[in-house]
Amino acid sequence: MIRCTGGWPASHRSALATLWPLPMGVSLQVNPPSFSLSPIGLTLWNQAVWTNLGRSADQCGRSWRWEQVQSAEVRDSAVHLNGEEILRFPLRQSAAAFAELIESARVAPKAEREQLVIRFLDASLDLVAISERIDAAIYEANALRWLGALQLALMFLVAPVVLSNLGGSKVLSALALTILIPVLFSVSLFVRNHRRTFPEERWARVETAFIMCVSWPMASRAATILNRHRLQGFHPVAIALALKDAKNSREFVARTLRDLAHPLREEELSADALEITDWYLEWYRRRLPVLAAQHGFRELSPTAAVPRSSDDEFYCPRCLAAYTRRITECADCPGVELQTLQSHQSEGA
Ligand SMILES: [Zn+2]
Repeated sequence: MIRCTGGWPASHRSALATLWPLPMGVSLQVNPPSFSLSPIGLTLWNQAVWTNLGRSADQCGRSWRWEQVQSAEVRDSAVHLNGEEILRFPLRQSAAAFAELIESARVAPKAEREQLVIRFLDASLDLVAISERIDAAIYEANALRWLGALQLALMFLVAPVVLSNLGGSKVLSALALTILIPVLFSVSLFVRNHRRTFPEERWARVETAFIMCVSWPMASRAATILNRHRLQGFHPVAIALALKDAKNSREFVARTLRDLAHPLREEELSADALEITDWYLEWYRRRLPVLAAQHGFRELSPTAAVPRSSDDEFYCPRCLAAYTRRITECADCPGVELQTLQSHQSEGA
């Protein structure tokens, strides 16, 4: 089996969950990128698509040089390359932006490709845009969450009490109409905010609004549904930097930078995949520490590994596990060589 992490090992995926919930209980989904881009071409990581036989096909490590791309188009929020589905996005506008980049890079002269790719990657680190979206998410969720709470209280507290004491079809109709009021307010508020944030996602908006009208418990979750994809396309480290007060974002940024500096060995990848991923990771390796420093994350030199006993002399620079004797590489991080604790301490001083 090919291990293909593209710089996002499982430990970091779980750490992403610690970045939220945000204040006011607002949840935002944070997704690590599932591809690497470079002036040479495109490689997919941990990406599975559904084949027409209904099974998922592992796309991990599949690469295309720009010269090999004949067409890129969007169908139902999935990007099709040379007529074959390769990537599915939660938003149509994200898929469209990605397909547009591929189309531009495909036809651009070689010298311009690097600028195109860098512009696309830079957009994923736009902290001003991320902060605006987080503020909007918290603000817009507020009224929706109150409406949702009111609706649930009517459905599960008021309605059973009234029905058991009074009963009758007239009472039932009156209750249903009462519950319908917060439902309709939620749906209209959802549609208005969704249109403002995702103007191109018209069908997703219509479909969700319809389901909310039919299935009322869905309407009580309008805030979560509205915010779910708000940070789609932004880099998780940039999101962590924008969430200055989030408890674990500092630790998350530090771990990601350590992982970038000491990547796991990728096995059985093609020469193209390695070349593309190396360029991509090197770009983030240079860019992310600068961005982190600009936003107050100054103590990003390796955090001290904690020796478990006085016999520990070595440590893994990626996961910070301490070792008593030097083995070729860390047991948990294939490809990462151990370093001595002394050299580490003097480095940190
Ligand atoms: Zn390790």
